[in-house]
Amino acid sequence: MEKRPTLRFLAGREDAGSTPDPAAPKQFNEISSKLIIPFMGQSYLIGCQKCDFKSKEIKTGVGFLFGNINDIVYVLKGTDKKKVQILNHQKQIHTHYSRGYSLYQCSKCHSLENKCHLTLYNQQGDLIFQTESYCRSCQKEREYMPEDTDNETIPDLCCPKCHQQDLRVLLGILWD
Ligand SMILES: [Zn+2]
Ligand SMILES: [Zn+2]
Repeated sequence: MEKRPTLRFLAGREDAGSTPDPAAPKQFNEISSKLIIPFMGQSYLIGCQKCDFKSKEIKTGVGFLFGNINDIVYVLKGTDKKKVQILNHQKQIHTHYSRGYSLYQCSKCHSLENKCHLTLYNQQGDLIFQTESYCRSCQKEREYMPEDTDNETIPDLCCPKCHQQDLRVLLGILWD
């Protein structure tokens, strides 16, 4: 085998770590996260700048996970899961559309819910199922809060605790 100059990996060299290796893991991570994030989604936390509110981990993103109705059923929870399982079993589902994990906020009490969005249509094109986020204390539907991924923020989101619009999105945790 031909010997290549791989001197930078030789043990005992004082300057071994001083030259950035173009193939080093850092660059690999940058490339792979760019490729993976649009498919796998991201998770993030929300922190309030006015009070001590900090959210639980919030999942977001659409991807190949949501390409197949069985995969979507897998991530659904509670009554959503039961309803969709029945519709699927009855072969009523003709087309589906999912934004993946989405964030919902009650416009009255500002409570948050993070759940998997899904809409289902039958063969006639009628809506047969839609994910809803229901606020029990206000007895109303929470609204879907679209993310602004370019600016890494969620416009119009209010702090569930102090109700001010001064939230910070803390991005960067990859989930699977
Ligand atoms: Zn509410
Ligand atoms: Zn707050």
